[in-house]
Amino acid sequence: MEIGVSVETAIKIACKNPIKKTTESVHLEDAANRILAIDLISKVDNPRFDNSSMDGWAVKFDDCKHGSKLRIIGTNQAGKTDNKLLKKGEACKIMTGASMPDGADSIVIIEDSIEGDQFVTIKGPARREYIRKKGEDIKKGETIIFAGTMMTPPAISLSATMGYSKLKVVSMPKIAIISNGDELIQPGLQLLEGQIYESNSFGIASLIQKIGGEPVRFDVVQDSIEGLRDALNLAASSCDAIITSGGVSMGDYDLVRKIMESEGEIKFWKVLMRPGGPPLFGKWKNTPIFGLPGNPVSSHVVFTMLVEPWIAYSLQTHADYGPKLVDKVSVILQNPLRGAPGKICLRRIRISNQDGKLIANVITHQGSGNIHSMVANNALTLLPPDTNAKEGDQIEALWFR
Ligand code: AMP
Ligand code: MG
Repeated sequence: MEIGVSVETAIKIACKNPIKKTTESVHLEDAANRILAIDLISKVDNPRFDNSSMDGWAVKFDDCKHGSKLRIIGTNQAGKTDNKLLKKGEACKIMTGASMPDGADSIVIIEDSIEGDQFVTIKGPARREYIRKKGEDIKKGETIIFAGTMMTPPAISLSATMGYSKLKVVSMPKIAIISNGDELIQPGLQLLEGQIYESNSFGIASLIQKIGGEPVRFDVVQDSIEGLRDALNLAASSCDAIITSGGVSMGDYDLVRKIMESEGEIKFWKVLMRPGGPPLFGKWKNTPIFGLPGNPVSSHVVFTMLVEPWIAYSLQTHADYGPKLVDKVSVILQNPLRGAPGKICLRRIRISNQDGKLIANVITHQGSGNIHSMVANNALTLLPPDTNAKEGDQIEALWFR
């Protein structure tokens, strides 16, 4: 077991113990937000044939002067082909998406024409760029979407364009969430003296969903070794990974750490970050387990800094096209900020755009129990260890998406 590792080392250790990745086939209708498991090769050219991007007239460019009269040979409609041949002095009416008649090289838009019985008078320019050329966007056989891409709405449309009705995607790993603490009560119920509403499991569940996992929220476990053991055993046998909340620091009732020390296998404990110092990672009965601190801000921050990259690595999500919770940006601080001795400091800041520059304000109390600070703000600082920042300093930050 390593104690007190850097964020980078923690991620490296966790990634040596990834969540097992499996794949499945889903219909396109069910593919939203799923992570593509294989490269997708187009089954067709796109466009499939030369066609018009406008409603207008297919013509020969050289025939078209202002006032030219061209003989109408018929109409090309999208979805109907009857291979017309356009000769000099002729025009074929054409609808958006209809195939170009042979012999035509340009389009005059409807608005630039006066249509008669047999002739059309040209009143505007003929344009070659209104022809969408076969294969100019996508060539049949080309790899277009890469494994690891999250299926966004346009990616789903693109898959359909390429001829796919089903996609091979990464199965959503089932991730157990176990909150522990005698004080935790389900929101909505009556609170007794000393009790608070349990919140972390809900936030963690939505973080898991956001990056392509299936959260399985367990009932809150009391501060009891037996209860914890039962929950961990059930989670290990029914889920692909376990995330616990609470009970990992130095207190007498920090039982997740205690049971992991005596009955589990800890790979690391404590990370050089603030907030979120005491997380642990290891295995329970061969199932990977992340123990997050109970303080609500800490649990979210540790998820963002450590758990998200670990899940993304496990699912092999594409770094550029995969799901991400944050973007790294450079911001100009409007207030001084204190860093942390020996630890990377992740303070909550609010980024806004001022005349094209990203500026950041510190607007809330920074306590790690104050989850409001994660809502009122929209970013975390990345202040290196032992570094304070002054007003006007340019610093790196993680901007929540
Ligand atoms: P712990 O890590 O168990 O020592 O808890 C640290 C602090 O976080 C305590 O104030 C707990 O009451 C609080 N806490 C622990 N778990 C949760 C939870 N699931 N939801 C909200 N607050 C929690
Ligand atoms: Mg506790």
